[in-house]
Amino acid sequence: MRLSVVAVALLLLPLVAVLASAEQFDFFYLVQQWPGSFCDTQQGCCFPDTGKPAADFGIHGLWPNYAKCRSAGERELVGEMGLVDMGLRRKKCWPEYCNDGNPLSLWEIKDLVKQLDQSWPTLSCKSGKSMEFWSYEWRKHGTCSDLDQHGYFAAALALKARYNLTAILADAGIVPSDDDTYFLSSISDAIAEGTGFKANLECNRDASGETQLFQVYQCVDRSGKRLIDCPLPMQGKCRDRVKLPPF
Ligand code: 5GP
Repeated sequence: MRLSVVAVALLLLPLVAVLASAEQFDFFYLVQQWPGSFCDTQQGCCFPDTGKPAADFGIHGLWPNYAKCRSAGERELVGEMGLVDMGLRRKKCWPEYCNDGNPLSLWEIKDLVKQLDQSWPTLSCKSGKSMEFWSYEWRKHGTCSDLDQHGYFAAALALKARYNLTAILADAGIVPSDDDTYFLSSISDAIAEGTGFKANLECNRDASGETQLFQVYQCVDRSGKRLIDCPLPMQGKCRDRVKLPPF
């Protein structure tokens, strides 16, 4: 009897492995936000309790993503949305909230907090506490990453430190300005040249409706260590010319 239970378990093992890998992601987006554009909108922003962040891109998150959106039985749609509504069929384009039993612990990341305050500050007016932003990002995205808490935050910090987007853009003459606009292609080219890899760009609108560069999506391999060319196109709401507002 005991032998047949073991035999059934052994037979089911490959199936379990296939089901588990179905939840696996293909690459990460490292998403960084330009603080001038986060603040320069109708709703504005607030500084965290640690003070005004530097005029530098700040981390928004490190997000596991699928190369193709998925639904039960079919996996053909390419896109960047978490869930794409196709009539009654909902498609999942990234995993999220993979383990609510593993909340972020300050103890686990205590040696990273100073760096996180500088590189991953909240600008939301909800609480002013960056730890709440980090906890949210860990719960929604980090728990799907195959990294532990320390590994997840250390990976995002190391990638940001290795590629200084603010300096890369400044070297190409793309500097914050109230008046100037920049070709979107010149921003894409500067990032591709400065990092060696193609990124995706997302824009938002200022209070008077002008388009500004809001977030840069760099693509990262599954280890969380190496950049790759972004495999998916993105409808990032940008125009041909965009602003980069001062912060
Ligand atoms: P996500 O885009 O990762 O799904 O959600 C971001 C969440 O973090 C939102 O609930 C947003 O209000 C909160 N949040 C807190 N601080 C920030 C910030 O500085 N930037 C952004 N984009 N979201 C923030």
